[in-house]
Amino acid sequence: MSVIQDVIAMVQEKDAGQVEFQQAIKEVLPSLEPTVPKHPEFVKAKIYERIVIPDRAIIFRVPWVDDHGEVQINRGYRVQFNNAIGPYKGGLRFHPSVNLSIVKFLGFEQIFKNSLTGLPMGGGKGGSDFDPKGKSDDEVMRFCQAFMRELYRHIGKDTDVPAGDIGVGGREIGYLYGYYKKIMNEHNTAMTGKGLEYGGSLIRPEATGYGAVFLAAEMLGTRGKEISGKTAAVSASGNVAQYTVEKLSQMGARVVTLSDSNGTILDEAGINAEKLAYVLDLKNIRRGRIKEYADRFKGTVYFPDKNVWEVIREQSLKVDLAFPSAHENEIHSVDAEGLVKNGCYLVCEGANMPSTLDAVQVYKENNVLFGPAKAANAGGVATSGLEMSQNSMRIYWTREEVEGRLHEIMKHIHKVCLEAAETYGCPGDYLSGANIAGFVKVANAMVAYGIV
Ligand code: NAP
Repeated sequence: MSVIQDVIAMVQEKDAGQVEFQQAIKEVLPSLEPTVPKHPEFVKAKIYERIVIPDRAIIFRVPWVDDHGEVQINRGYRVQFNNAIGPYKGGLRFHPSVNLSIVKFLGFEQIFKNSLTGLPMGGGKGGSDFDPKGKSDDEVMRFCQAFMRELYRHIGKDTDVPAGDIGVGGREIGYLYGYYKKIMNEHNTAMTGKGLEYGGSLIRPEATGYGAVFLAAEMLGTRGKEISGKTAAVSASGNVAQYTVEKLSQMGARVVTLSDSNGTILDEAGINAEKLAYVLDLKNIRRGRIKEYADRFKGTVYFPDKNVWEVIREQSLKVDLAFPSAHENEIHSVDAEGLVKNGCYLVCEGANMPSTLDAVQVYKENNVLFGPAKAANAGGVATSGLEMSQNSMRIYWTREEVEGRLHEIMKHIHKVCLEAAETYGCPGDYLSGANIAGFVKVANAMVAYGIV
C-alpha cells in the first residue's frame, strides 16, 4: 500500500466519525500521490503522516446570558492546524452545524489555500455552534464577548489571526475584536475583516466573491471564452454570494439565482445593481429571507425548500457558469449531472467543499472547468493578508490598489495551479494542481524545520 493510502487508513481509524474531515482528507491526499516519488525527503520526514494532525485543537465552553436572563451554553473551537509558513490564519464560523469535524476540515483545507496565495499565512479555523439568526444585537454581542473571553489567550498578530466565515460578518467581527482590544489593551492585527474605521481593508468584504470571478475569468480564458454574455447561477445570499453577483454582473454576465436555507429565487431578467443593493440591505441590515426578493421584484419565481441545484435540475434551467457559495456538500452527483445536462461548463467554488467527491467526478468526466474551493475562494484570505500588511505598515491602500493586488493574486493562483498540474503529470487538472502547489511549499518548510 502507498504511504498515501496508509495515511488515509490511519485517519479513518484515529478520526473515526469525523465525516467532513475524512472527506477533505480523501479529496486532498490522493491528488498528492505524484509528489511521493518526486520527494523522498517528504516520505523520510513523514510529512504526509504529520500534515493530517493539527498542531493543536482547542475546545471550550461559552456560557452567556440571553435577553430573558437565561443562561445559554455553546461550544467554541479553534483548530490551529499548521503554521509552517506563517501565523495560523482562517475564519470563525457561527452555525448550529459547527463541530470538531467541520472545523478540522476547514482548517486542513486552509493550510493549502493560504499557501497558494503566495502570502506567509499558516492554516487554522474556528467557530461555535451558536446561531446568530434570530438573536438580538445584544445577544450576539454578549455571545461574542463570552467567546473572546477564552479565545483571546490563543490568538495574536504573530500567532493566530482569525477572520469571519458563515455567521460571522462585520457586526460579529466588531464585537469580537472590540472585546479583544479591551482585555488586551492593544490595538493590533490579531483579527481581519475589521471595519474600515478601525483597521479594516477596502475590498475585504468583496474579496472572496470578486476573487472567485477573477479565477473563473482566467479559467474561461484557457478555452477562449469570457464572462461577458454568460448566464450564471449563484447559490446562497451571504457575503460570498453577494459580491460574486456584483463582479459577475459588472463583467457582463446575467446572474439568475440566489438562495438561503429556506429556498431559491429565479430571476431570469438577471440580478442587476439595483436588485443587488436590495439584497445587501435585506441580508446585511434587515436580516430577512430571500423570499422577500420575489415579493419585491415582479417576474421572479420563488422555490421554497429547494436549493439552486435542485431548481436547475427540475426546471431544466440553462446556465453556463455555476458559483456554489453556501456550504459544504450542497452539490451532489445528481446535481452535477443536472448542471452538465443543462449546459454548464464551469463550476467555481466560492464556498468550502460545496461539491461532494462524486460530484467532482462528474465534472471530470464531462470536461467541466472546475475551480476548487482552495483556489477559487482564496481571494478572501489573501485580502485578509493584505489587511495585515496595511496594519503592520500603518497605512491604507485605495480600493483600486487592493483590488488590483487581489486580481494579481488570483492570476498567480491560476498560474501556479496549472504549472503544478503540468509538472506532476495531470495537465489542466486545477484540483490536483491546487492541492500539490499548496502542499509542496508547506512540506518544504516542514522539512527545513527538522522533526518538531
Ligand atoms: P454568510 O455570509 O454567513 O452566508 C452564508 C449563506 O449560505 C447564507 O445565505 C446562508 O443562508 C447559506 N447557508 C449556510 N448554511 C446553509 C445550510 N446548511 N443550508 C442552506 N443554506 C445555508 O457566509 P459566507 O461568508 O458567505 O460563507 C459562505 C461559504 O463561503 C462558506 O462555505 C464559507 O466557508 C466560504 N468562504 C467564505 C469566505 C469569506 O471571506 N466570507 C472565504 C472563503 C470561503 P441562511 O442565511 O438561510 O443560513
